[in-house]
Parts: sequence; structure tokens; C-alpha cells
Amino acid sequence: MLISVVIPSYNEEEVITESYRRLAKVFTDNNLPDFELIFINDGSRDKTMFILKDIAAKDAHVKLLNFSRNFGHQAAVTAGLRESKGDVAVIIDADLQDPPEVIIDMLRVYETEQCNVVYGVRNKRKGESFFKLLTAKLFYRLLNSLSDISFPVDTGDFRLIDRKVINAFNNLHEKNKYIRGLISWLGFKQCPVYYNREARFAGETKYPFRKMLKFASIGLFYFSKKPLKLATSVGFLSILAGLLYVLMLIAGQIFGFGHVVSGWTSTIIIIIFFGGVQLLTIGVLGQYIGSLFDEVKNRPEYIIAEKVNFNE
Ligand code: UDP
Ligand code: MG
Repeated sequence: MLISVVIPSYNEEEVITESYRRLAKVFTDNNLPDFELIFINDGSRDKTMFILKDIAAKDAHVKLLNFSRNFGHQAAVTAGLRESKGDVAVIIDADLQDPPEVIIDMLRVYETEQCNVVYGVRNKRKGESFFKLLTAKLFYRLLNSLSDISFPVDTGDFRLIDRKVINAFNNLHEKNKYIRGLISWLGFKQCPVYYNREARFAGETKYPFRKMLKFASIGLFYFSKKPLKLATSVGFLSILAGLLYVLMLIAGQIFGFGHVVSGWTSTIIIIIFFGGVQLLTIGVLGQYIGSLFDEVKNRPEYIIAEKVNFNE
């Protein structure tokens, strides 16, 4: 059985050698000689590429995809899966936050329970800021309440998937991928494996708040039409409130209560409120139109500048 490991790497010069060492060790220690380590260099601006080329020159297990620029984590994983030849593939971060040793647990669950997907669930997180933990938690709760399918809480992209799932995944053509959501959407038999997420081995997170926000919005707007429904409901409620107010004003005219001329405050409140509702609704529509725009352009998700050790 050939095992592919997909490792997206962006500016990871401080960790990449150690990641390679730990990964290769897992396979040699457990007598699993059939493996390929597919590193995707996602347009790093540091020495990551040179280090990986060095490693690839010495070890034929190591394959390298060089992107022409930074296309993002999800595009890197997509490329790795598409180029993988394995009977199963493991997606793992380069920073050793997902311990490579857990791959063995995943393989065990895969074999004993006949699962098509074995996804890692984080027990607890070391070395991550309170802010990141809180936003991640809130995001998953929100996503689950808004989305049409369910997302396991506390999972990342660290998972093992078999050939059936890899092929099904490779047939998905959306441009902005939210991989953990898509794999969950694919169905098949999915089993959890619990593990402790480590602190980053070295370097710093490549997901600043800006990227996190973009990632979260893809998860939300690509997987749910509920924001659209919500916008419609809010609009509907506002109209209802407006109508009630009109009735009240008319009643006031007839029965002589309420001074219409002195209604400046209420007018301003209504203008501001409805202005807000309209902008919000247009914003929600805009998100979907933006997504459509990305899909319609039909550009490739990534461009591979160079392949190393793929012997084709
Ligand atoms: N990564 C990538 N391209 C990017 C950002 C990140 O390939 O544009 C890789 C990064 O090298 C790492 C993984 O994606 O292997 C997860 O990134 P990171 O550890 O920075 O995210 P965090 O664990 O902080 O959420
Ligand atoms: Mg990380």
C-alpha cells in the first residue's frame, strides 16, 4: 500500500528539515517503506525551496511541487492531492503542530474500522493564543448553525483519506476550496482520531487575522445559503415594522395622538436602521456574487512552476 503525505509549506525554513526528519522516521520506524512525501512550496520567500530541493536530491521518497507564487494553503493541499499516487493520502501541516506519529493511529483506524476518511480531532491546543482559540470555536459554532451540512468541531485539515475520496475530491472544481468542509460534504465513512495538537515547532503562524477572515468567509458563503435567507427575513421583518408604524401614524391622525411634525428623531432612526439593513443585505448578496465571479473566471487554482522527483 502506497501512502502519500501532502505537506503545504510556506516560509517554513526553520521547521522544514525537522518536519522531513520526523515524517520519514515515522515510516521507517514502522516498517512502511512505501510512501511519498509531497511537499508543496507555496511561493515561499525564504530558503524553504532550496532546503526542500536539497532533501529531494538525497531522498527519492521526497517530491516537490513549486508554485509560481503564493496561492494559499488550500490550493497547496489541492495540488498535492491531485499529484498524489497513493492508495491513501495524509494531509498534514509543515509546522509539526499535527504530530506525524499520529499518522500511524490513523492508519490503524483506517484498517480496523474500514473508514474512508480518518480525521484528526484536537484534544487541546498548546501554544495558541486565547484569541485564536476563541475565534476558532465561535467560527465552528456559527458555521454549524448556518450550514446545511455538519462540520466536526476542533478539526483542521489533518486527515487520512483513501483513493475513493481522493478521486472524488479531485473531481470537485470549485476555485475557492474549503477542504475540511468539502471532504465532510463528500460523505463516505468518516472516523475521528483524537490527538494533542502541539505548539508550532518554530516560526510563526502564516495565518494572520486577514487570511483567517478570508478563510472563514469561504467556509461560510460557499457552504450555506442561509445568510441569503436571513437577509430576506430581516428585510421582511423591517417591512412589517414599517407597515405597523404607518398604521400607527394614520391612527394618530384620525384619533389625534402623536405629533407628526415633531417626529424628527423617529424619522432619522428609521432612515439609519433601514439604511443599515439594506447595506447588510447588499453586502450578503455581494459575497455570493464575488464567489460566482471567482468561479466564472475559471482560472486555475494554482500554477506549478516546477516538479521535482515526479519522474514522468
Ligand atoms: N501555508 C501555506 N500557504 C499559505 C499559508 C500557510 O502553504 O499561504 C501552510 C503552512 O506552511 C503550514 C500550514 O499551511 O504548513 C498551516 O499554516 P499555519 O501553521 O501557519 O497555520 P495555523 O496552524 O497557525 O492555523
Ligand atoms: Mg500551524
